[in-house]
Amino acid sequence: MSPLQRLGGQACAYFQRGRCTRTQSPEASAEAKCAMLEARRKVGAQTLDRLERLKRLADPEDREVARRLVIQKNITAINRISCPGFVPARSEGPMCIHQHLVYCLLLLPLCQGRCEHFLRRRRETEPLRGHS
Ligand code: SF4
Ligand code: SF4
Repeated sequence: MSPLQRLGGQACAYFQRGRCTRTQSPEASAEAKCAMLEARRKVGAQTLDRLERLKRLADPEDREVARRLVIQKNITAINRISCPGFVPARSEGPMCIHQHLVYCLLLLPLCQGRCEHFLRRRRETEPLRGHS
């Protein structure tokens, strides 16, 4: 008798290109975040902080010069951020083809087939429950 095989997880709402996007634990989710996106976010936050502090400069010309410098530094810092797995996405939206929301699909576990957490993906044509 042939061994029983699990059904594939393709129809699951958590299934994304062979990976399971279901939250396993806060720790696992934190580890699966896209490093490039995180690094960009930090640079962006630092830039906003610097721009905020520039408001203390009394002279408008000094402020403008400093603002341009901060923006230039921001661009340089963003351009320096790289990831070995990065593959640019063609369409608008995520920057990398492996990105799913704030996560990297490559860091998420593989779907092992239909499991007890399987959640049937809603079809486009299916009406939302509770809405008339
Ligand atoms: S491979 Fe892509 S999605 Fe994954 S961490 Fe690198 S840039 Fe982010
Ligand atoms: S079937 Fe299970 S392992 Fe596969 S994507 Fe769905 S929840 Fe994750």
